[in-house]
Amino acid sequence: MKKTDLIRYLDEIGDEVNQVNLEIWNRPELSGEEAKSADLYRKVLSKHGFLIREVGPEMPHAFIGEYGSGSPVIAVLAEYDALPGLSQAVDTKPNPVAKHGPGHGCGHNLLGAAALGAALAVKKYLADTGKQGTIRFYGCPEEEFLIGKVKMIKAGAFEGCDLALSWHPMNVNAALESAYLANNSIKFKFHGISAHAAQSPESGRSALDAVELMNVGANYLREHVIDDARIHYTITNAGGSPNIIPEEAESWYYIRAPHRRDVESITARLLKIAEGAALMTETRVEHTVLGGCYHLLPNSVLHELTYKNMTEIDPPSYTEQELEFARALQESLDPELVEGEIQKFIALDEEKPCIHQGVLDPQQAKSVIVSGSSDSGDVSWIMPMNLFLTAAWPLGVPAHSWQATAASGSSLGTKGMHYAAQILTGIAYDLLNDPALVAAAQAEFKDRTKNAKYVSPLSD
Ligand SMILES: [Zn+2]
Repeated sequence: MKKTDLIRYLDEIGDEVNQVNLEIWNRPELSGEEAKSADLYRKVLSKHGFLIREVGPEMPHAFIGEYGSGSPVIAVLAEYDALPGLSQAVDTKPNPVAKHGPGHGCGHNLLGAAALGAALAVKKYLADTGKQGTIRFYGCPEEEFLIGKVKMIKAGAFEGCDLALSWHPMNVNAALESAYLANNSIKFKFHGISAHAAQSPESGRSALDAVELMNVGANYLREHVIDDARIHYTITNAGGSPNIIPEEAESWYYIRAPHRRDVESITARLLKIAEGAALMTETRVEHTVLGGCYHLLPNSVLHELTYKNMTEIDPPSYTEQELEFARALQESLDPELVEGEIQKFIALDEEKPCIHQGVLDPQQAKSVIVSGSSDSGDVSWIMPMNLFLTAAWPLGVPAHSWQATAASGSSLGTKGMHYAAQILTGIAYDLLNDPALVAAAQAEFKDRTKNAKYVSPLSD
């Protein structure tokens, strides 16, 4: 059985996989609430002979679907959570299906379904050839909270895997060697003394003053951290009525940087700022780490293998109607932003494309910056992992936008997903047939983590 036979099999099961994709797009579930999406995957995988294992009662929407025996044990990562407020029909203008409802603005409907397609194809290969090897479909909830895989790692769900395969829907076809900012998510709660704000202000100590002074301190800190760091906050409790000095107030911070160690050192300084604000206002502060995650650890063996498969397998082509839809979605964006995005990797003399066709070469791919965070980063720190993007959205469409929701539910999304499933399958095929590749990826991983072991961002 050749790789091309397996790629052809993906066409055969294309409708079944796409049905799952569209069902999940049509019924978006937020992080932590992905009961129906997870159940749908469990059902389809069981039907195809996968053994379903649960991660634990504290994570009811996380599970593993496994087929095969022996090594290599290949994990393919699936996500299926949606985003609040991004409900949108397959339309070229804002048109929510449910007003303020959730929507798949990050394309996780595609992300999970491509993983399903690949898992089913690899299963077919293992079943038909009797080859040794195991494929594991990882149903990972709560990615948008940046916590699902971190908790799954802590629960031991990834034990026994040799390597992991991952991808994300985006607006270009590219294999990435570095991506994702490491992140900490922390809430700061200040406790003061309430008093009548006019009658006896001298007897009160404002928790809100402390929150505001901490924000001032954090804003001064910005000048003294690395350029690529990001610090953002909201005030989640600012007290109640103006005539009552707030006894309690709370802020919520994200601290991000390209390397986990920078996130940790900036966090340590931010904790001092919180203490300083408490000292200034004679209040008390406590902080809770809600979550945190790692940046992607590169693995050049898997990166090269991914790029090779992306160029071996033909990227999708589009109908006139699809190109028209892509162009209309692109035109709904700020033209300067779109132009800026395109110019990063498309030569100026080429006609401005509305959807990326072809594959960025490794040099061009370096200009694709994925500056969000993902809990997939953590998986790359416990085993070798790849990452690639496919064009599921028109060029210039950013993640977490209504345009991304629209494209993710359209045939553009389906085509990007199908291409991703083919690439994942191709990589798995190569790994199953070449033990030296698995060994090389693992040796590189071992070397890269020699002096930098994974420590869970979550405390016990
Ligand atoms: Zn995402």
